[in-house]
Amino acid sequence: MLVTTRSDELRSALGFGSPPQRAIALVPTMGALHEGHLSLVRRARTENQLLVVSIFVNPLQFSAGEDYQRYPRDSDADIALLEREGADIVFAPDPEGYVPAWHRTVVRVEGPLTSTLEGGVRPGHFEGVATIVAKLLSSVGPERAYFGEKDYQQLLVVRRMVHDLDIPTQIVACPIVRDADGLALSSRNAYLSPSQRQRALALPSALREAAAAWDGDADSARVLLHRRLQAASGISLDYAEVVDPMTLDPLGGIIDSPARALAAVRVGDTRLIDNVGLGQPEIQPRPADTEEL
Ligand code: AMP
Repeated sequence: MLVTTRSDELRSALGFGSPPQRAIALVPTMGALHEGHLSLVRRARTENQLLVVSIFVNPLQFSAGEDYQRYPRDSDADIALLEREGADIVFAPDPEGYVPAWHRTVVRVEGPLTSTLEGGVRPGHFEGVATIVAKLLSSVGPERAYFGEKDYQQLLVVRRMVHDLDIPTQIVACPIVRDADGLALSSRNAYLSPSQRQRALALPSALREAAAAWDGDADSARVLLHRRLQAASGISLDYAEVVDPMTLDPLGGIIDSPARALAAVRVGDTRLIDNVGLGQPEIQPRPADTEEL
């Protein structure tokens, strides 16, 4: 009999971290799948035995006045794509059943991780994300769950939640997939007219420029981003920040550790977010590297 005070020992006794040939993977999505989603699906497929992909446009993460109603939905196309990619299960709960009117539980990660950046502009957004990700992890019980660095703050919030609640799922981070013109793939890109899309390119281009010019000076990087994004025509800047890549605390002055630049802009009615590592190669973290917060 094992008697233990340690949750890591408990997990290993329960078989957590079982070899890939027994593992269940979850890739949570809101559908309208593109190559960014599929990069997560493909990686999850190779690293696990049973692959579950969820498609759920999570009503809890949209505030009133956001694009919940018009968010693109094409479940037939999504299911066909996932079949081709070898998914075993598509979990696509209906919103009224999964989050009924009498749903009363909220998962809230506190502090700057959820109050700044996206959390500052979209109050309540990360509560909605954390609540539904916790519920999906609970529904599926995956060994690993795959998230994109495209939603960098979301990735950190989910890692924090999983760590704090001792949820026995490893969160695997996957790099951003971009179109040939540099725009990060996003289901919301479908909202953009050709001329808006052209204007939206200022976002990846400013981030790329900041990464190329990075010399450890966080203030100059922030100024550069603000200058480029405020000067760009037809887009409005929500935020552009240079932050600690683990805590999201804003950085200032000269620093000698890696940083991350995160920015959000609006092009017409469409909100776009993007980010880039500063002072670190854009490498794909191995699953073994990703358990640390
Ligand atoms: P969404 O359907 O937008 O909620 O995204 C589902 C998952 O796919 C999230 O973990 C996203 O970060 C990830 N994702 C979305 N777009 C991209 C992209 N361009 N590159 C990498 N991952 C992405």
